[in-house]
Amino acid sequence: MLALLDGTLADPDAPLVRVDDLGLLRGDGVFETILVVDGKPRELDPHLDRLARSAAMMDLPEPDRAAFERAVSLVLDNWTGGREVALKLVFTRGVEGGDGTPTGFALGMDIPAKVIGQRADGLAAVTLDRGIEPGLAERAPWLLLGAKSLSYAVNMAALREAERRGASEVVFTTSSGSVLEGPTSTLIMVRGRTLTTPPSTLGILPGTTQAALFRAATREGWAVRVEPIAVDDLYEADGVFLVSSVRKITRVHTLDGKSLPDSTELHEELVDLYESEY
Ligand code: PLP
Repeated sequence: MLALLDGTLADPDAPLVRVDDLGLLRGDGVFETILVVDGKPRELDPHLDRLARSAAMMDLPEPDRAAFERAVSLVLDNWTGGREVALKLVFTRGVEGGDGTPTGFALGMDIPAKVIGQRADGLAAVTLDRGIEPGLAERAPWLLLGAKSLSYAVNMAALREAERRGASEVVFTTSSGSVLEGPTSTLIMVRGRTLTTPPSTLGILPGTTQAALFRAATREGWAVRVEPIAVDDLYEADGVFLVSSVRKITRVHTLDGKSLPDSTELHEELVDLYESEY
C-alpha cells in the first residue's frame, strides 16, 4: 500500500519515481521504518522527529510532517494485509538538476517471515569493524554518522558478510573494540536488572525501540545506562539483544561462533516490558 505526500494513493506496482531521482542515483535521501500493530503506528512522533533530524543533517528541506502523517493514515486506512505492517517513510532530494522539490512517500509492507522467526528463536551474530572511532561523528559531520540516510549499501554488505561467516546479523564495532549497533538495529546488553546501550554520540542511530524499552524498564524499576560497551563485556552479560521497530526485541544466542548464556527467560521479560508500552 503506497501513499504520496499530496494525499493520494498510488499503485506500488506502477512506475512512480523518475530514473534521475537523487534518491536512486546517489542514495541521497532519508527514511524511517515504523512498526504498525493492529492499525496503530508505534513511536510515530519519535520516527517523524528522527526523519526531520536526518533530513537536517543532510541539508534537505524539512519534511512536511502533516503530509507524512496524512500519508501514514492513508496507507493504514487502506491496508488489507496482516496484523503487523512495516511502514516505510522515504524522502529524497528529488530529481537531478530539478527545482529542489523532494520526493516523498509512505509504503506499507508485510514483515519478512525470517524476521518474525528470529524474534522467537533468536539469532547468531558476528562482530564487524565499522571503521569509525569515538569523536569522528562530531569531527566529520559530512560522514552523516547517525543519520538514517538511504545509503544503506554498507549495512547490507555487512549482512552478506555475516551470512558468509555462518551468522545472520552483525554487531558493528569501532576499530578499538567498542560496540556500536547492528546494521538495522540497536544493541542492548543486560546484566542483572540493568540495561545498557552505547551512546548515539559514537555516531550511531538513536533507536526508537531502545528508547521505548528503556522507558518501560525505568517505570518498572530497572536501571538503564547509556555508555560505551566493550565487545568482551558481551560475553559476560546475562543477555545481548538487537532491537528495532521491525525486529522488536531479538535475542543474540551466538556471537562470533561462541554461545552466549541462555537468555530465553530474560527475553520474555523484556518483550513483556516493551509490549506494556502499547
Ligand atoms: N540502528 C540502525 C542503523 C537502524 O537502521 C535502525 C532501524 O532501522 C536502528 C538502529 C533501530 O531503530 P528503531 O528502533 O528506531 O527502529
